[in-house]
Amino acid sequence: MSRVWSIAIHGGAGPIRQIDYGAAEAHMAETLKAASESLAAGGRAVTVAEQAVMALEESGHHIAGRGASPNALGQWELDAAIMDGETRNAGAVAALRGFRSPVRAARMVMLHSQHVMLVGKGASHFLRGRGLRRVWNPRDYYRPSVKRAVAPGELAHGTVGAVVLDGEGRLAAATSTGGLLGKMPGRVGDTPILGAGTWADERVAVSCTGQGEFFMRAAVAADVSARVRYGKMGVEQAAKAALDDVHFLGGDGGLIAVDVLGNVTTPFLSESMKRGIATSRGVFHVAVRR
Ligand code: ASP
Repeated sequence: MSRVWSIAIHGGAGPIRQIDYGAAEAHMAETLKAASESLAAGGRAVTVAEQAVMALEESGHHIAGRGASPNALGQWELDAAIMDGETRNAGAVAALRGFRSPVRAARMVMLHSQHVMLVGKGASHFLRGRGLRRVWNPRDYYRPSVKRAVAPGELAHGTVGAVVLDGEGRLAAATSTGGLLGKMPGRVGDTPILGAGTWADERVAVSCTGQGEFFMRAAVAADVSARVRYGKMGVEQAAKAALDDVHFLGGDGGLIAVDVLGNVTTPFLSESMKRGIATSRGVFHVAVRR
């Protein structure tokens, strides 16, 4: 058994300069600590990724899960995906309403349906049948982590994600988001789209954050994988090159990625990105600014 493991998490590439992220950083450190203990004890990558993202969703510190903001009509519509690199099994939900953990919902789609993505009434019906925790009163439950008014068309955003290599050499990625602040009802970003915002295979796992429209148009997560697979690039170089394409298109954001050797990279184009890394080699690091 390879005992090398690594995890990276992110809390979105849209931090705002004036805000103090101390509590968010402390919570990210706790999340990494719990994930490290699971990995050291033999935890499976896909489960550790799901649990880390659930903790970030529940924390309310990010624009995902409990901290998500409503869309332009005041409704909460959340996106998430999870992918197991060992099997390429994956699950996703988009514009999901009324459930506490979108990443849990995505994992349920992966484990218990024959499909990869569910949306709308069909998703709700399926998830109710799996006993997923509901949100009955969105206005009471959600605690938007960004409280300021959003100008129409402003692309403020935030997402949470995790990429994991476990001690058996398995990779996984999970991403969850409230999407862009003030988004149109029905808008779906890159997060739940495999190969855009989320990807894991036997070589690399990727979770993105940023202006999803650009990440979809650049197929960023798949591009990182392709550069590693066909271009024989290291994960750091591959991630940077994929983000260069986003920049070329005029987009903003960042990503976290880990490869099968445990190398981790967390590049971003934006001013800052909430991020953290822990590895079996003793790296433990949480940061927001550059
Ligand atoms: N990528 C997400 C989206 O476009 C937002 C974010 O990462 O902040 O929905």
